Amino acid sequence: MDANDMGDDLAAVLIDADQIQARLAELAIEIDADYAGKDLLLVGVLKGAVMVMADLARALHTAVEMDWMAVSSYGSGTRSSGVVRIIKDLDADLTDRHVLVVEDIVDSGLTLSWLLRNLSSRGPASLEVCTLLRKPEAQQAGSSKGEPPRVRYVGFDIPPEFVVGYGLDYAEKYRSLPFVGSLARHVYRPGK
Ligand code: 5GP
Repeated sequence: MDANDMGDDLAAVLIDADQIQARLAELAIEIDADYAGKDLLLVGVLKGAVMVMADLARALHTAVEMDWMAVSSYGSGTRSSGVVRIIKDLDADLTDRHVLVVEDIVDSGLTLSWLLRNLSSRGPASLEVCTLLRKPEAQQAGSSKGEPPRVRYVGFDIPPEFVVGYGLDYAEKYRSLPFVGSLARHVYRPGK
């Protein structure tokens, strides 16, 4: 699927496919250096992180294991609440493992904060986060909701708008786009 297939549903391409791959290659160099000589377990959060996991894992020279978790975050509309339920848990035991959580996007950071608390209780040797995208709210320290989660590797800081593509959906659509884009208003506000 590409921009032409979206017709007038696409408002703008924010980050194109080449930019994504180039940034993932840079992050892979950092991660390879930081985990040299260590066994690394990548933990992907379904479904959004599928694309970034696949491309990041292939850009790494470090041998990795991959495991997956699915969580659902209760919230109103497009806002998450930080109240999270595990839909699918990991197969791997995290005890004494070096764990890198691979995320598509960190918005308020509430989902990730919950996930990090949950995973750190399982006794990993180390626990870090790599996200392709980060919105401004996730960088604001000391907000009323508490400290934002520590994210070691960030692909792109983006404006606080709703984005789709490269794993990210709107109502389960657009995940297969090779780029990150914004939707035309008529898609999510029909008739307005
Ligand atoms: P947080 O708990 O950080 O506010 O929300 C994180 C989750 O909300 C992400 O994993 C993703 O599922 C969803 N999300 C946040 N912002 C966007 C966005 O711009 N586009 C899409 N498709 N999902 C988003």
